Amino acid sequence: MIGRHSLAQLRAFTIAALLVALPIAAFLMLGKMQAFSRVEGRLEDIAEIAAGLAEEAIARAEGQISSFARVTDLEMTPAAQNYLNEIVYVEPFFREASVIAPNGKLVYSTARAFDEPFMAAEERRANPDIVGPHVVGRFRTRVMGEESIFIGMIVAGRGEVMLLVNPDMLTLALNQVDLGGDGRLLFVQADGTVLAASHGHLVPAAYDFAQGVPGRFGVVVPAVRGRLSIVVDVERSWVLREWRGDVALAIPIAAFGAVAAGFGALRLLGRPRGLHNDLREGLERDELVVDYQPIVSLETGACVGVEALVRWDHPYHGRLAPSVFIPMAVEDGLLGTLTRRVLARVAADYPSLSASVDDLRVNINCPAYLLLDGTVERLLDASAAPRLSDDFVAHLVFELTEDSFVGDRVVELVGIMDDLRARGIRFALDDFGTGYSGLAAVKDIKFEYLKIDRVFVHAIGGGEPGALLVDMLVELSKALGAKAVAEGVETTQQRDHVSHRGVALAQGWHYSRALPAQDIIRFIRACNRAA
Ligand code: C2E
Ligand code: CA
Ligand code: CA
Repeated sequence: MIGRHSLAQLRAFTIAALLVALPIAAFLMLGKMQAFSRVEGRLEDIAEIAAGLAEEAIARAEGQISSFARVTDLEMTPAAQNYLNEIVYVEPFFREASVIAPNGKLVYSTARAFDEPFMAAEERRANPDIVGPHVVGRFRTRVMGEESIFIGMIVAGRGEVMLLVNPDMLTLALNQVDLGGDGRLLFVQADGTVLAASHGHLVPAAYDFAQGVPGRFGVVVPAVRGRLSIVVDVERSWVLREWRGDVALAIPIAAFGAVAAGFGALRLLGRPRGLHNDLREGLERDELVVDYQPIVSLETGACVGVEALVRWDHPYHGRLAPSVFIPMAVEDGLLGTLTRRVLARVAADYPSLSASVDDLRVNINCPAYLLLDGTVERLLDASAAPRLSDDFVAHLVFELTEDSFVGDRVVELVGIMDDLRARGIRFALDDFGTGYSGLAAVKDIKFEYLKIDRVFVHAIGGGEPGALLVDMLVELSKALGAKAVAEGVETTQQRDHVSHRGVALAQGWHYSRALPAQDIIRFIRACNRAA
């Protein structure tokens, strides 16, 4: 019983906790994904700005070189030299300009005059396949000893013009953008050569587009018709910093919510543990009610007794069956209190119940241990509250269950039962035939009634062995000098069978279910008028 409850409890608790925890976990996972996509969006915006800067550098180079070529035809007259010097002077983007003849000979440089002929290295020359200005590469220049980005442009038939850009010019404005402790922007050529790096990063030799950088999260945005790429990458931990704030907040919420939901579920789904606590209060608040099921004479058809069956009108759960809370009462040591409540109820109902019948017997379920521990004696005592009338007590039948006869206190029990008999009380062995040790007990303990358990009665009509067992129990009752009571009679076939075997009394839905006091009074009247 309890084991089953704990399992159901555990299951209910787990399901409810999961119902709360899962959406929060999902929320966190989504939050994580969102953190990445949010940061990704921001990085892309930043990369677009950088791409714009690169385009701007190329566009300016094109503008300057085109007008220089138009005006000078790349003939390096003093005026042409002034023109080129002017470009470097007014245009902050470019730090140096030079002109190279088609044969590779350096014709002029704003950095210095060349006395002897100087050939430009092959890799430092513009690509003849590309029309217009383009990034040739990043090189260290002899004069300044610093690295520059070379932007070159072929001027058809006459040579090429090279403008050198300080890499810092590309990244200067972007260094202010917050990319966490280690974030950076890279301007990368299609072959992976890195031209510039922001945020004070050393310019790495190359960037691997396929791999990225482990531990970093980044975006790659194409610029200058795909000839350049802007890489913005940051540490993954930085991306997750906001999300981690969410986690720090969500985990206690999730934990609290899950536990609360679990307990909520237990409350809703019968909350067996909660019921334990409720039972004590319920007993104090008198929430127990008693229904009565008639016990009918098979000989006359008259209702000669009723069995009091307790129910609990629980404030939340409504009416609860005794199978739910009797085991709890036993476990919590509350059965004595419960029995006192039942006796008080039944005693209050008894005058009207017995009004239309002589000698109506009232059966009360009571395990043997309440007799052994003196509870019953106390409840029936003249000084007990409520005081039970002698007439009522004289019509009581205590139904003892077979499985409560454990131990070796049989002699003691018999003595107590005999004392109570002296006051008119009778005893029934409940669920006769189901208890294992009970069969042994019946030879030592005298019962006025043996209530043949409904499983045997229900076997009637289901084949020989079942009916045979009923017959055996009936015979045993006769041999023991007790009246047999057939429990759980539901059909006329069952009724007729037990009746023909000489069973004295019957109880079951064939006659009536357990009814509230007013209804059972009406039933008794109708039944006994007909009898
Ligand atoms: P029980 O003493 O065997 O009570 C008879 C049970 O069988 C009742 O269930 C009754 O409703 C049910 N019953 C009666 N006729 C039929 C029928 O024709 N067919 C079927 N299938 N069932 C029938 P209930 O009221 O749920 O009581 C269950 C058990 O709770 C009782 O079994 C009894 O052991 C215990 N109980 C009930 N009231 C008290 C009480 O006041 N004190 C104690 N200690 N136990 C009680
Ligand atoms: Ca009973
Ligand atoms: Ca029974």
